Amino acid sequence: MEEILKNLPEKAKDKHKENKKFFAKLRKKPPKDLDRQMQDMHEEEFSRTNCLDCANCCKTTGPLFTNKDIERISKHLKQKPQQFIEQYLRIDEDNDYVLQQVPCTFLAEDNYCLIYDVRPKACREFPHTDRKDFHKISNLTIKNTAICPAAFNIVEEMKRRVKG
Ligand code: SF4
Ligand code: SF4
Repeated sequence: MEEILKNLPEKAKDKHKENKKFFAKLRKKPPKDLDRQMQDMHEEEFSRTNCLDCANCCKTTGPLFTNKDIERISKHLKQKPQQFIEQYLRIDEDNDYVLQQVPCTFLAEDNYCLIYDVRPKACREFPHTDRKDFHKISNLTIKNTAICPAAFNIVEEMKRRVKG
């Protein structure tokens, strides 16, 4: 996995143009069963890729935190929401709450998440490859192919399988 993660940004850069073109075409004419196809590709990929071997999203980017996330996690940590914000979060350029630092403070050495059951929604959903209308978040997805080996593989598989 270490080698895969080391080479991933370069591989994603090589595919950038091709991926842009693919998604531009897909957005114009997405197949009717795209959601189902995405679900299949997502499940197939994550039956091969174990996030516990990777944790690259937790190490390099971190999620944004909604107010609901902050309430739920601070309650779990027996803190007031404001205390939690001051201790762990900052506001980014889009006015969202994000981590003060990466790797995420809640990532344990064995790649387990210390707040797994109450983790932010964005962590639960990353890399969003099984979400509805997946083609509508193509810019984010192309960005994620440089961070997430599963997202990279899923986009490669899409290019082989999905016919617009
Ligand atoms: S979601 Fe992607 S980047 Fe995050 S741990 Fe799983 S494979 Fe790695
Ligand atoms: S909260 Fe958990 S899942 Fe989310 S980035 Fe931190 S360690 Fe990873």
